[in-house]
Amino acid sequence: MVPGPVEVEDEVLAAMSGQLVAHYGKEWASFYNEVVDKLKELFGTTGDLFVYPGSGHLGVDACIGSLFEPGECVAVVTNGYFGERLAELALANELQVVRIEAPWGKAVDPAAVGATLDAHPDVKGVLVVHGETSTATLNPVPGIAREAKSRGRLVVVDAVSSAGVVPLEIDAWGVDAFATASQKGLGAPPGLVIVGVGRAAWQAIDRRTQPIRGWSANLKVWRTYAENERDFQPYYVTMPVSIVRALDASLALIRREGAAERYRRHAEVSAAFRQGISRLGLELVGDPDHPLPSVTAFRTPPGIASEQWRQRLAERGFLLSTGLGAMEAVVLRIGHMGKHATLEQARAFCRALASLLD
Ligand SMILES: *Cc1c(COP(=O)(O)O)cnc(C)c1O
Repeated sequence: MVPGPVEVEDEVLAAMSGQLVAHYGKEWASFYNEVVDKLKELFGTTGDLFVYPGSGHLGVDACIGSLFEPGECVAVVTNGYFGERLAELALANELQVVRIEAPWGKAVDPAAVGATLDAHPDVKGVLVVHGETSTATLNPVPGIAREAKSRGRLVVVDAVSSAGVVPLEIDAWGVDAFATASQKGLGAPPGLVIVGVGRAAWQAIDRRTQPIRGWSANLKVWRTYAENERDFQPYYVTMPVSIVRALDASLALIRREGAAERYRRHAEVSAAFRQGISRLGLELVGDPDHPLPSVTAFRTPPGIASEQWRQRLAERGFLLSTGLGAMEAVVLRIGHMGKHATLEQARAFCRALASLLD
């Protein structure tokens, strides 16, 4: 129950046990393209979507380094560890960064984004983490995107811990580029990054005055292979075929349950975790009005480091993570995605926690 990677369903494990095949050829390419189409449908986009070997950050890096040129300015929402990471990635890509800060555990107000954009006409795009995993907070991406798009700015979203557990409506919200990964809400093993790129993002890429640096995280390179090699090998590297099969199996489970029902289940279970932990007199971390349904975070009782609590809970069969950054020693984080998003699990966990507090 760490906040990713997740334990996967038996069907997903079974899908990985088949003999390996080459990652190219008509048959394989058609299977891969179907997986891509299923993801586009799930995320509500008719834009381009790429599935590549790698983890979530590779996708975020590819979006930032491709949409923006060195020296250009971006606004970065920073209200947690992964928001700070976005700023780090922007700086590593030699961009100017304007921060839109909110306290850790508080969702950012879209109006604050609008105000920052009005004050900084040079900001070309907004970078935001949807599910801030460090504080179990869901930033209001639809409202943030509305503020940005109404001012003609680009929107790039880190959806690593939100995709598959909350609705993503990429096109309807006006998100220009986003990245997620296989190992969290999508219920598959780690190893694949998923990147979506819309029309306005491609326009920005095609209008660049300097070429995109590098090759491996270069969306133009990805597009070239997707367009020219669609029926044989629509990507430039060796694909971990077993993980693609696993992702497909997990997408089949999501489809069988129904995406809407899956989102409802995660919201219900997340509420049960929060309620159970509050009842024990412990303080929750995260915005009560904007909870991230895949993760619950809480402050551990004072006097004993969170790592000690983590070990005690692990002895009882619940493997959690500590907090991140300044919250490391005082916070525990529970991942409840996919297989572990059940009310029984929430109750069993709260009983174990209660027995430790006695
Ligand atoms: C887990 C997580 C990441 C890290 O992704 P990797 O796949 O490890 O690169 C990035 N952003 C958020 C919000 C996450 O929860």
